[in-house]
Amino acid sequence: MAIATKYKINFSCGHAETKDLGTTPAGKRASKARWMGEKYTCSKCFKAADQKDLDKLNAQTLVEAEVFEQEHELPELQGSEKQVPWATRVRYQLLSDGLDEVGHDSPDAQELIVAAQTITRCGWWIDYKDADPGEVFEVVTTGAVKVKEQAENHVDSENPF
Ligand SMILES: [Zn+2]
Repeated sequence: MAIATKYKINFSCGHAETKDLGTTPAGKRASKARWMGEKYTCSKCFKAADQKDLDKLNAQTLVEAEVFEQEHELPELQGSEKQVPWATRVRYQLLSDGLDEVGHDSPDAQELIVAAQTITRCGWWIDYKDADPGEVFEVVTTGAVKVKEQAENHVDSENPF
């Protein structure tokens, strides 16, 4: 008689899933199924816990980002409800990397923060989320120049005289 390779495992979260234990020697499958059930949660709960960890990590980063924002007098970002926390984290990560790169007390650090203060659009920060630390200074200072130009052009076109 062939020994079953598929076992219904009762996981510690209370859910059950059927797993193929074909790679486990036949005589050990039943005890392995029991051991897996006691040690693990089902795949759905495993994924949910993963997502929860990620949410927790994001929330923690957001707290750090808000402290950073206050310390460096960075303005609140403009964007949708979903974009703002995301872009706030991105800005924090980019600028911390950028500051590490140029040196926190260097004149470049000052210039970087002043430039960053003028860029308030979430989409801009999100676009540059993958910039290398070595690129941050250039990307942000160039971005600030563009923001300034746009503001000036806007004023020009609004000017009725
Ligand atoms: Zn479960």
